[in-house]
Amino acid sequence: MTTLDPWGAVKIDNYSKLFDEFGISRFDELLGKIKNPHRYMRRHVIFGHRSYESVLSAMLSGKPFAAMSGFMPSGRAHLGHKMVMEEIIWHQQQGGDAFLAIADMEAHAVRGKSWKECREFGINEYILSAIALGLKPGAHIYFQSKSGNVKDLAFELGTKANFSELSAIYGFNGETNIAHMVSALTQSADILQPQLEEFGGPKPVVIPVGADQDPHIRLTRGLAYKVNMFIVEKRESAGKAFISVRGKAAPKEALSEIAKRTGGKLYEEHVDVFKQSFDEVESIVRETELKYGGYAFIPPASTYHKFMTGLQGGKMSSSIPESYIALTDKPEEGAKKVMRAKTGGRVTLEEQSKLGGEPDKCSVYELLLFHLVEDDNKLMEVYKDCVGGTRVCGNCKKYAAELMREFLKEHQEKREQAREGLGEFGL
Ligand code: SF4
Repeated sequence: MTTLDPWGAVKIDNYSKLFDEFGISRFDELLGKIKNPHRYMRRHVIFGHRSYESVLSAMLSGKPFAAMSGFMPSGRAHLGHKMVMEEIIWHQQQGGDAFLAIADMEAHAVRGKSWKECREFGINEYILSAIALGLKPGAHIYFQSKSGNVKDLAFELGTKANFSELSAIYGFNGETNIAHMVSALTQSADILQPQLEEFGGPKPVVIPVGADQDPHIRLTRGLAYKVNMFIVEKRESAGKAFISVRGKAAPKEALSEIAKRTGGKLYEEHVDVFKQSFDEVESIVRETELKYGGYAFIPPASTYHKFMTGLQGGKMSSSIPESYIALTDKPEEGAKKVMRAKTGGRVTLEEQSKLGGEPDKCSVYELLLFHLVEDDNKLMEVYKDCVGGTRVCGNCKKYAAELMREFLKEHQEKREQAREGLGEFGL
């Protein structure tokens, strides 16, 4: 008997390499602990994470945490961007601090966009849509080029990153302009900014990303370790477990203060602690580092979501408008794109009723699953009717097209209201 799997369209088989080779953990393992999980979580669109436990634990215990993401203002905001915006908004609704960066330095350095274009695209395409989708005042929305914090931090991170490391990730070569390199570090600074003193200091921060963005996350986690004064590790020697605090560049007084507070044994460049728990030691080290002017960054967490496929099958591409629906497409245009989308239907109606459709290969079903149907039972019904052969693609597309038309109409009305409220976000 075939099992019904309404989330089959978001199977993660193709991503198993990420789990095995890069140490991304499965999100499913945390799902049961999350109150009111977002539909991307419930439906396994978000399939993986790094260190999300830290964010979840802060969320559950009412401690500070944040969610951040950046958008490059060089093209139109589409349903793929909407996914990230919704994830940030969901975290804000759970009590987190929300950060939204407009990566204008990157758009200027990498795509050659003028500062004026960056500003217009940033506001009209991304910021208005994020607010219309539910981002509330209190969120930190900023342009990279206007943030002294981010620029200063990027410079500091640059002291710990070298050309080979960045080229391995971003494919830089001798022809790459320097501003492009700086913009890569600026992106890491965006990710770490929520942990600066101005925003309440070190805290768990989650960056919701697509699976291809993991190299940026790994780079930033690495940089966070490198700029910190201390490294805290669990170790074992002669069968005895202990915690080692290493501080190569740390002031001597800071290291001896840690030895004193933890009751640990002080060496030239490290302290070994035998009697306290890892969390206790980490918290003492963090306090000491901040006192001595360090950052004490917590390595940023991340969640990984699956990509949407293009409406015609294949990849979504900004150079092929038919492959995606932009948040500013006219409702009628959006509905038409749905009507022209690739389905998982059979060649003839007869075959469809005999064999059933293939929602797992259908971009219309994907739109319903990712964006248009919030109710899981309703989606299950569509899935069952499709595979059972009682649902006909023509009607199904009309249903999805109507939902898309309504969504775009309502979203665009909210964008106009958002324009009037930009001042509440300091813009
Ligand atoms: S009936 Fe709907 S979900 Fe099924 S293949 Fe056709 S368009 Fe896709």
